[in-house]
Amino acid sequence: MSNVTVCVRFRPLSQKERKANGDRVCFKRLDSESFVFKDEREDDVIFSFDKVFYEDAEQSDVYNFIAVPIVADAINGINGTVITYGQTGAGKTYSMEGPSILHCNKQKTGLLQRVVDELFQCLQSSESLDMWSVKLSMVEIYLEKVRDLLDLSKDNLQIKESKTQGIYISGATEISIMNNSDALERLSEGIANRAVGETQMNLASSRSHCLYIFSVQHGSTDERVTAGKIILVDLAGSEKVEKTGAEGRVLDEAKTINKSLSALGNVINALTTGKPNHVPYRDSKLTRILQDALGGNSRSALLCCCSPSASNAPESLSTLRFGTRTKLIKTAPKSIPA
Ligand code: ADP
Repeated sequence: MSNVTVCVRFRPLSQKERKANGDRVCFKRLDSESFVFKDEREDDVIFSFDKVFYEDAEQSDVYNFIAVPIVADAINGINGTVITYGQTGAGKTYSMEGPSILHCNKQKTGLLQRVVDELFQCLQSSESLDMWSVKLSMVEIYLEKVRDLLDLSKDNLQIKESKTQGIYISGATEISIMNNSDALERLSEGIANRAVGETQMNLASSRSHCLYIFSVQHGSTDERVTAGKIILVDLAGSEKVEKTGAEGRVLDEAKTINKSLSALGNVINALTTGKPNHVPYRDSKLTRILQDALGGNSRSALLCCCSPSASNAPESLSTLRFGTRTKLIKTAPKSIPA
């Protein structure tokens, strides 16, 4: 039995936060796994996680701890999932994509590029490279519809389940990626298709959950078998609707996002409170797609992204509580095929 790995990342204070609130932060470091959380309106709380990445952490630190074991497992047939969670502007997309997917110095590249690099490195060192291939799908869940980011004409994909594939997104475009630069080109095309809206929290905040799905396959051209899948999930912002100043369509988006994140919270609650037969996976598209990741069959990691500023303490506290609950889930990884 293994837990979901839960980590926290505090990004550096932004210029805006420094200007508005000075250097006041909401935590005091204890060590690389715990910190004291400080919120003026509540008592101090000590939080502990598998790892805490403070503002000086490098992208490689996050990758090495969270994703290296997941990539190795995918090649050996265990599915893996990495989820970034947190309020808009907390650093989810930075952790996933880096400052830019295509034009970014190597030190700052995010989890996505590093996963791609490692996948190709592992496969190239394998003796039978011609037997391996990597396929990529990219979808977003926007207003409770699953849209194909690699083919925008497919804007309402259905989620299905089969004995061989487990839960999958039926009809989602799957492209073979041949090497790192090919993969990055395709990822950047998909990212450009994401639905983004403007809120007061962040001018380019994403209003959708974005899922990057890598299938590692092996076998001859006629008979391909999926070894393992890696799903990277960049969730939409977890902030409360009132704080975003949203109206109209943006308010609808925020409500849908809050609903699906609540559904995720409910699934986690059910999994941690000993009611595994009554887990409400079907309450949202997000939880249905993540069913294998959360309920077993997968090795999963959650990166809780937080602003360090005292002014965002309530939102950070809510993110940390979500992480603490997730830590209690136990999953049983699929055994490695012979
Ligand atoms: P989110 O995806 O959670 O809405 P972003 O990843 O877009 O947030 O981050 C908001 C801003 O903070 C961006 O300008 C991003 O470049 C910056 N940022 C986030 N995390 C870091 C970090 N660890 N180091 C430096 N800048 C960061």
